[in-house]
Amino acid sequence: MNYLLIDPQIKNADYDFPNIRLTTCEAVLKERYNIEILEFFYEKEIDKLTLDQFKKYKYDLFYKELFFKINNVQIVYIECEYGFLNDCIEISKIIKKINNNIIIVVGGIFINYLYNGNILYEVSKFTKYIDYYFVGDYIYLLNNIEIIKKNKKIYYKNFELKQNTLKVSWEKFNLKSYKNLMVPVFFSNGCRYNKCMFCDENLIWGNRKYIYRDVEHVLTELKYYFEKYKITNFYFWDSSIVSHPDFKILCKKLSNFDIEIKWVGLSRIDELNEEKVKMLKDSNCQTIELGLEALDDHTLKNIKKGISIKDIYKTVELLKKYKINVEGSFIIGIPGDNKKIINQRITLASNLDLNYYRWHNYQIPSISLKLKNIIFEYQEFLNLDLNIPNHLIRESINDNIGYFDMHIADKTFFYKLTRFPKLKIGYLSVQEIIELTYSAIEKTNISRKNKALHSPFM
Ligand code: SF4
Repeated sequence: MNYLLIDPQIKNADYDFPNIRLTTCEAVLKERYNIEILEFFYEKEIDKLTLDQFKKYKYDLFYKELFFKINNVQIVYIECEYGFLNDCIEISKIIKKINNNIIIVVGGIFINYLYNGNILYEVSKFTKYIDYYFVGDYIYLLNNIEIIKKNKKIYYKNFELKQNTLKVSWEKFNLKSYKNLMVPVFFSNGCRYNKCMFCDENLIWGNRKYIYRDVEHVLTELKYYFEKYKITNFYFWDSSIVSHPDFKILCKKLSNFDIEIKWVGLSRIDELNEEKVKMLKDSNCQTIELGLEALDDHTLKNIKKGISIKDIYKTVELLKKYKINVEGSFIIGIPGDNKKIINQRITLASNLDLNYYRWHNYQIPSISLKLKNIIFEYQEFLNLDLNIPNHLIRESINDNIGYFDMHIADKTFFYKLTRFPKLKIGYLSVQEIIELTYSAIEKTNISRKNKALHSPFM
């Protein structure tokens, strides 16, 4: 059986990264099937294109690449990020036109999000070109494709890491096309803490529990990347690398590793102490991203973050002492936020003098998608198209749901949104939330900071 795994994101080779969910899938499926990967890259200057010209360019690119890749394929899997369902439908339409017998499956973070929000079933009724949706353990389901039935469109399985030795190779990826390649790896999936009320971390893999890999398997993988591709820069995709029970062993091994690697990762504040920070330094960790979210104890308690402002100052100072870059991740528009609290958050964040700042506008967690005062039309999820360059988002964004991508303010900072829906989250309108996020980005000068070896999520 021949599979084609598709990442529909149109990538900019200067700063985008290859898709770790697809290569993890490839690693398992290739034991039984022939696997090909399809990625898309901008092939020309797109800065001056209008929205219509870009859309035409995008669909021509989909068509051209698919036409050459689809021969002899029986199963297509398309990875769907937030706001990419529209393109998954377009790609499916093209494939069905070329060969109506090909089975098309869509999965990914956005599909997990819709499923968890209890609206995937309704949305799926409008997507006739897509045969199946795989939620959660898409790898298991793709590997056991014989279980699918004609009269059932949505399949769910809790994600499990059965094969601890994932032979992730990236072989089928176009790694040479990435100019500043930093390869994603993971040591664990999910979140061990898993209590923050705004967080959908578990939807990334669709697992309900925290799972982790063996140190030796991760080291073998890093060594392989160096030997095969001379790659020495990595980012650990874990929600908190320090949570892993073998975190100290990993750091010790990396400190004496044959290859000099540089890496970045994320950590919870309360999991770091001086001993662990020193270990990070010795293992050549360059940057740690911290989920700080808010800088007042009242909000931190409300969102069940499990840390205090005192913990934040202590950990930031420790990381600075050991000269590890600190990236702070914050949220604007948490229910309960008002302008005064947010302006105070921005000032305190700026005073922390971090190396990098990540400001997120509030994204509605999946479980709240159907709350009666913020219900969205099903059509909005289908129409939303965020697979476009930042300078065209302002023009393309129409429906309410687009304003709740947590990166929308960041993406449109240089091309500011001017139209807003009449919706409120707590005390603030969507317009106020986005504009306050712009203000936070401006005041912490993110655009002027050095972005080398930046966090994975930049
Ligand atoms: S915000 Fe971080 S610590 Fe909190 S649940 Fe999400 S991943 Fe876990």
